[in-house]
Amino acid sequence: MNYKNPDDNGYYGEFGGAFIPEMLYPNVEELQKNYLGIIESEEFQKEYQDLLKNYVGRATPLYFSKNLSKKYHTKVYLKREDLNHTGAHKINNALGQVLLAKRLGKNRIIAETGAGQHGVATATACALLGLKCIVYMGEVDIQRQAPNVARMKMLGAEVIAATSGSKTLKDAVNEALRDWINNPVTTHYVIGSVVGPHPFPDLVARFQSIISKEIKEQLHEQIGRETPDYVIACVGGGSNAAGTFYHFVNEENVKIIAAEAGGLGIDSGKSAATTFLGTLGVLHGSKSLVMQTKDGQVIEPHSISAGLDYPGIGPFHAHLHKENRAEFFSINDDQALKAAFELTKLEGIIPALESAHALAVLEQKKFNENDVVVICLSGRGDKDMETYLKNM
Ligand SMILES: *Cc1c(COP(=O)(O)O)cnc(C)c1O
Repeated sequence: MNYKNPDDNGYYGEFGGAFIPEMLYPNVEELQKNYLGIIESEEFQKEYQDLLKNYVGRATPLYFSKNLSKKYHTKVYLKREDLNHTGAHKINNALGQVLLAKRLGKNRIIAETGAGQHGVATATACALLGLKCIVYMGEVDIQRQAPNVARMKMLGAEVIAATSGSKTLKDAVNEALRDWINNPVTTHYVIGSVVGPHPFPDLVARFQSIISKEIKEQLHEQIGRETPDYVIACVGGGSNAAGTFYHFVNEENVKIIAAEAGGLGIDSGKSAATTFLGTLGVLHGSKSLVMQTKDGQVIEPHSISAGLDYPGIGPFHAHLHKENRAEFFSINDDQALKAAFELTKLEGIIPALESAHALAVLEQKKFNENDVVVICLSGRGDKDMETYLKNM
């Protein structure tokens, strides 16, 4: 089976598609028709790869973690996405999409953001490439994430509060979609994960696939073979995971592990573990697994990490789950905290709380001594210091 890319209609098995109001058809169809031609062109790749190297700082290291390896009696490698400019993998996608928008003749960028990480990455790309940037953010999140709001403003973005509903991420998405409907000619909507209507999940996965492309090359260089035994990543919407898995999903020998945010536990009513709690539904333009009530009301998720606090999962991952191609773990808040403190102490690396969910899999699963286990360290922990301080 081909797990990597969707079919022509944007489906990964039964998941995906484009479920959007008619008013959005022209925008989405323009993208569907043009995205592959543009991003695969030599001219686009030349500019994109040059920026990834000289602006973002790629390739990020693949670091053999001697101390974690010793503790867990296996061979642990960390893919250091935390060392990217702006501190996480999100810049890989934001830069790619803003470059694409320019080639589509757009001069105005909109984005939604929850914790502010994707907003900062998009505002950064817009500052660099000279496009106007508007970021929609829930009013509650604006208050919770003041440092990132300040960063976006300093980068020249306009931050607009979403004041409806729970005033959080899903309300910001609704505002962004409304804006896009009203400004179809001038504006591109930079979605921040492998979610949304086709072609966004495929577009974002392709931009993030640089992660597994580099892992292959670096493993070859370091151990003389291109494939690990395991790849592990955390899943919010699923973009760092899609990038980490991309070049391995069709390689049968590579086992794939996804870590979701269990919150206070899957039975606690305060969780974000979508594959454990979700059912088939439509959220933000695609058919996938969604945490929802029997009548289709989205259930408010909970996670200690803002980046995993999402009631859905991208169709790429829903498909891996359905076909048992990936093993899913639900990692609770306290387990993630423990893993974050452990990495800091053993290796001198303070990870993002999101990434700590992937690290926590080491406690949950027994690996063999000779297994090569690659974990995506999706971001750094600076933004989480307040939470870490409270739990010291
Ligand atoms: C946003 C974020 C995530 C979650 O998003 P995905 O699309 O699932 O990758 C994970 N880690 C970090 C550091 C983030 O900022």
